[in-house]
This record gives sequence, structure tokens and C-alpha cells, in this order.
Amino acid sequence: MDAVTAIQQRIVQIQSRIAELDPSRAGTLTAAASATSTSSPSASALAFGQVLGSVQAADATADVGYGAALVNADNVPYELVGYGNGKIPSSALSTISGTSHELWAPAARSFEAMRDAAARDGVTIGITDSYRSYDAQVDVAARKGLYSQGGLAAVPGTSNHGWGMALDLKLDDSAQAWIREHGGEYGFVEAVPREPWHWEYHPSN
Ligand SMILES: [Zn+2]
Repeated sequence: MDAVTAIQQRIVQIQSRIAELDPSRAGTLTAAASATSTSSPSASALAFGQVLGSVQAADATADVGYGAALVNADNVPYELVGYGNGKIPSSALSTISGTSHELWAPAARSFEAMRDAAARDGVTIGITDSYRSYDAQVDVAARKGLYSQGGLAAVPGTSNHGWGMALDLKLDDSAQAWIREHGGEYGFVEAVPREPWHWEYHPSN
């Protein structure tokens, strides 16, 4: 299946999701969907971005599974996969409020909701790292070594940080316990053994 066909199929799925969440917005997506049928991949990406914006608006009240329809089987957002791991422009990412850290937009919104819920419970969740460019992954691998060699870094170009889907968090004991209990409610998963600070956004979970 080519990229345009894949995007068209996602739009159909997403439209039904939006209709479910907010029927009043579903009709606005017809133009975006039809724009993908004959146009270039970049125009399709633009149309897809418009659809995503509508999903975010419609989905804003749903914390659990937020963005689940928007990732592929490898948990990579469809709207980012074309850029490549660690090659995503800042304009395609979203800043986590109150920080300079960037993630895929649904991951950023879900993190904010999780952080705010933790704060209401008197727990502070800090961030040490978020989206990581390819060059930064090379640097981390050089400093910390590869997993395969007993270190703490993914092979450059394969880290979930490179898709804006992972965070390294600053967690004291109470915050570690809190996120282990509640992280899943916001789509966050403790994904890597030996790295209790590393949390990934898996909206399908
Ligand atoms: Zn990490």
C-alpha cells in the first residue's frame, strides 16, 4: 500500500472516531479526506495534519487511549513516520507546558494530564529528557553504551525518544510509586528493564 492510500484509510478510521466523540466536527473533514485522493504526499500530510487537529479537539476529554488511532503497529505516529527517527522538525512536535521539552502532541497532552493529576496527589514528576534527535542519540550511545553491550542506550535511529514517544523522568520514591500505579491510565508504560525513569507513551495499551 502506498503512503497516500495508507493515509486515506487512516482518515476514514479517524472520521468515524470523531463522529463517535463529537458528531458536529465530522463533516468538516470531508475536504481534507478528498484532498488526499489525487494530491501529492506533502498535500496529504497537510490534510492529515488538519484531521489530527480535529481528533485532538474531539479527543480532548478522553485521557485513556488518547491518540490510539494515530499510531502504527510499532507505536510510531503516522504523521511523524515519514520524517524518520530523530529527524522530526520542532514544528511537528509539541512543547510540554511549563517546560522546553517536546513530544508528539497527544503524548505531550497526556503527560500534562498525568503530571497535573500527580501534583493534585502531592507528587512531583520532573523531566530530564524527551524527544531526542538522531545526533543526540549518537551522543548518548557514545557516553552510555549500547543495551546490547550492557549499557543504557538504544542503537541510534531506533530509540523511542526519536519518535517523540518517550520521556526520561525525575522521580523520587513516591513519584515512582505513583506513576507505576497511575501511568497506565494516561497511556504511559515503564518499557525498559533497568530504566525505571524511562516511560513511553503507548496509547493503544
Ligand atoms: Zn529514555
